[in-house]
Amino acid sequence: MLPARVSIREVGPRDGFQNEPEVIPTAEKVRLIELLARTGVPRLEVTSFVRPDVIPQLADAEEVLARIDVPDGVALTVLIPNERGLDRALVHRDRFHEVNCFLSASETHNRHNVGRTVEESLRGLDRVIVRARGEGLRAEAVISVAFGCPYEGPVPRERVLALATALAAFGAEEIGFGDTTGMANPVQVGEFFAAARAVLPEIELTAHFHNTRGQGLANALAALQAGCTSFESSFGELGGCPVPPGATGNIATEDLVGMLHEMGVQTGVDLPALLEATAEVQRTLGRRLGSHTLVAGPVDWHRG
Ligand code: ZN
Repeated sequence: MLPARVSIREVGPRDGFQNEPEVIPTAEKVRLIELLARTGVPRLEVTSFVRPDVIPQLADAEEVLARIDVPDGVALTVLIPNERGLDRALVHRDRFHEVNCFLSASETHNRHNVGRTVEESLRGLDRVIVRARGEGLRAEAVISVAFGCPYEGPVPRERVLALATALAAFGAEEIGFGDTTGMANPVQVGEFFAAARAVLPEIELTAHFHNTRGQGLANALAALQAGCTSFESSFGELGGCPVPPGATGNIATEDLVGMLHEMGVQTGVDLPALLEATAEVQRTLGRRLGSHTLVAGPVDWHRG
């Protein structure tokens, strides 16, 4: 039995744009976010308050938030690396609804990504989550390399679930599990989400898969079959983790939406409208993107 409906958070404007070699002009970002916001996607991660010198691609976070015009009902998420980032974001508190903070399940990936131990990250996120909730914001926390680490190899499920339990105790209402470099397989994912549901029955559990090795949608189906109803994906299969280089590609939102709709699982997303946004970002970036549905079009049973 599959869930009747799932919730998708489109993360292309953050996870995607952050990993582009060129800085996308702010006006282009605003235009693309506004297109995405009119596809019916319920959640949209629009930018990140990381240090501009570390990720110049998202140095215009304030300007993007100030300029975008999105319909009511679309929940806007911003990525928050630490309390300094939260301070910057809170100046624009009325322009977004959710914060997403993150840490890695492995020490080595966390050190490469944010220069801290996992314990130091946990202590910082405690403050971020408590303060964000105090401002009336919804808080998500994503655990990166939750299914395997490119530096350390296998990551014990107990370790990931212990981190998730700690983040939930800080007040996170949603915990995301990132297959940051595409190491997960569907059997592992199914077992993981079944175990996570048992440990954290009250928390929204979100799957964040990368298609680095072509197993993204298979992993999404496995998570769905284990009862997961929340997914993060990126239009045009944009994105990836900057560490290590070359680890690219979230699952494409249009491929995920197409698969879900064909299986009778509702998303609220208008697939043709989403494909227009994907075509637009492909034009903007000037290179062929990894999306399959953009090339083949949606399944059309009348034409065969
Ligand atoms: Zn990602």
